[in-house]
Amino acid sequence: MSQRRDDRSRSRADQGARSFRCHHCRLDVSLWAPGTQHRNHCPNCLYSRHVDDRLPGDRASECRARMEPIAIAVRGAGEWVIVHRCTGCAELSSNRTAGDDNPLSLMRIATRPLAQPPFPLEHLTRL
Ligand SMILES: [Zn+2]
Ligand SMILES: [Zn+2]
Repeated sequence: MSQRRDDRSRSRADQGARSFRCHHCRLDVSLWAPGTQHRNHCPNCLYSRHVDDRLPGDRASECRARMEPIAIAVRGAGEWVIVHRCTGCAELSSNRTAGDDNPLSLMRIATRPLAQPPFPLEHLTRL
C-alpha cells in the first residue's frame, strides 16, 4: 500500500520527523523518550495510536485509530507496561512505560479497578 486513504490523520512522525501530535490531548510530543527505543504513546494522557501491525515500530497497520490506555500490567521484576485497546478495531497491545510518562495518569489507570470494585471491599475482612 503506497497510498493512504486518509491523509488528514497522517502525522509528521510518518515522515520521519522528531515529534508527533497526540490525537487525544493534542500535545506535541517528542519522539525521543528516556528509557525506550521509540515512543509509542503520549506521556501526558498515555493514549497511543494504532500504527504498528505485528512488530513494535513497523508502522504497517492501516487502522490509525486512537488506542486507549486501559490497564497497567507488571512484567518481570517490576517493569510497568501499559495495555492499550484500539478504539477502532479493539486490538490489544502492551507497551513499556517511558521515563517521562505522567505518574498521575499512570496511577489513575493502575488504581481504577480498586476504585470501582465489583464487590463491597468490606467482604475482604470476612474471608
Ligand atoms: Zn495525549
Ligand atoms: Zn486498530
